[in-house]
Amino acid sequence: MDVTPATVKISSVALKHNIQIIKEKAPNSKVIAVVKANAYGHGVEFVSSAIEHLVDCFGVARLAEALRLRSNGITKPILLLEGFFSEKNLPIIAVNNIQTIIHNQEQLEALKTVNLPNKIKVWLKIDTGMHRLGVDLDQVDDFYQQLKDNPNVDDEIGFVSHFSRADELESDYTHIQLNRFLSAVKNRGECSISASGGILFWKEAHLDWIRPGIIMYGVSPNNVPSKEYGLIPVMTLTSSLIAVRHHKKGEPVGYGGAWISDKDTKIGVVAIGYGDGYPRDMPEGTPVYINGRRVSVVGRVSMDMMTVDLGLASQDKVGDEVILWGKELPLEEIAQKSGLLSYELITKLTPRVLTEYID
Ligand SMILES: *Cc1c(COP(=O)(O)O)cnc(C)c1O
Repeated sequence: MDVTPATVKISSVALKHNIQIIKEKAPNSKVIAVVKANAYGHGVEFVSSAIEHLVDCFGVARLAEALRLRSNGITKPILLLEGFFSEKNLPIIAVNNIQTIIHNQEQLEALKTVNLPNKIKVWLKIDTGMHRLGVDLDQVDDFYQQLKDNPNVDDEIGFVSHFSRADELESDYTHIQLNRFLSAVKNRGECSISASGGILFWKEAHLDWIRPGIIMYGVSPNNVPSKEYGLIPVMTLTSSLIAVRHHKKGEPVGYGGAWISDKDTKIGVVAIGYGDGYPRDMPEGTPVYINGRRVSVVGRVSMDMMTVDLGLASQDKVGDEVILWGKELPLEEIAQKSGLLSYELITKLTPRVLTEYID
């Protein structure tokens, strides 16, 4: 007997393929590879090392994430996508060649209170309609001038914004945001507005820098399987059967007896549960892939395991691999089933899950 519990298998071939596809889609744009949240659950050390030579900059959400990249030997520029959170951090940002977004008055003022050993590159974030972060359109000129006048700030100021509805192909909101952005920037510096949705669906919005996140990992920003866009899933989430048991018609399975079989069958117990980040409320009928076919989750997902209906004729045995998502079973389909976003499913995985780097 040899059972491997919950494991993510990560393919660098798929990762590099996806970056190639992204570059073909946006041939005139430089690439900020977004590797926040442990590279969307894929392992930031492995991902950043594998792709550093293919990209121009890395994007993260926290200073600790940026410093983790530097500890890993990454030398390319790193951009703090939400800017810095304390003026105390500015010296460490400066000496580590970390770039920052400025999106509010507090950050602007903080940059004036310090005397940095070297200038830092700043990107001014403009709110073009997402209404989450960014300076208002009528504040752009004032912020720009104050940044220009600040001796801590590199002379080449960049401009960024973020789409709120880039995955809605019928909506004209993306064009409204793009037009507001370009009107506010007035050709004063390099521009970046497109994350995955903008890259896939709005060619005119690629501009100087693109910021791919989820599509680098071979997952769609919507629920269309990423194969449709030429992408290959980088992650395959697997586990194994730890028991195969005969089950009688009319008998319940698991906590609360939530599922009752309407036939004699075999139940497979899979070594993955919400303690690994597989959602507890995954609905009955969600597919898993085993020995070349799909079978359904039945009963409630527990902390360390869950149950699937293998069927009476099944030949599956203890130790057989079970795929929860991956090339054989699109994550987008599991996301749709669960009512969660693909983004959530991959970033929810817990440290207990083993990682295996394939190819
Ligand atoms: C996370 C993030 C991205 C990447 O988004 P995806 O939809 O995963 O491509 C790009 N830009 C900013 C500012 C982000 O926070």
